[in-house]
Amino acid sequence: MKNWIPIKPPFARFKKKVFIRAAQVSGIVYQIGEYPALRQPSKKIPIAAIKSVTMNTKIAYLKKCLLQYRKITGYGRGIAGIQVGIPERIAVIYTPRKLITIINPRIAKKSEKRLLYPEMCMSVNPIIAPTVRPSWIEFEYYDENGQKQYWNTKDDTKKQKILNRVFQHEIDHMDGIINIDKVKFPRDLILESNPAFYKKAKFEEV
Ligand SMILES: [Zn+2]
Repeated sequence: MKNWIPIKPPFARFKKKVFIRAAQVSGIVYQIGEYPALRQPSKKIPIAAIKSVTMNTKIAYLKKCLLQYRKITGYGRGIAGIQVGIPERIAVIYTPRKLITIINPRIAKKSEKRLLYPEMCMSVNPIIAPTVRPSWIEFEYYDENGQKQYWNTKDDTKKQKILNRVFQHEIDHMDGIINIDKVKFPRDLILESNPAFYKKAKFEEV
């Protein structure tokens, strides 16, 4: 008779990598439970202060943190000021062409259509939160030159859906809301453990 042998959980090597990354990220980005301001609204930035030396330094730091995060993990689309100890309404979003800085965003319109998509957050590493959000938003904001801008790109490509989602994720941070707060059941939370997970991820209409 054969003896019983334990069946080990899967993806051990991948998970080791995930936790090493998470440790590295947590040296740059504040994590839930250690910084109460993550759950509080950030302050509006006076328009006159946007082009100040201090704000320039803060924006440069945010960009540096986002790029560092991408270097560590290979992904990462956006970072809000509050995540690196700047409780002001500012975020930087990554696109392959450029980094977009949004300051004092104000949502003007939201899509009626709502989509479910698994999201990660640098402050909740390495948890994946399947999050429901409007398919797109329109919003006005100030760029880092103090110019008013309007975002209203909403074609049906995955790229645009992700960008619209990242903007909403970051604007939520400015209001003290984290993606896990929007998940209906804690049981829906996922640990990043399967290397193929994001290859299969798709937007689902709800
Ligand atoms: Zn986040």
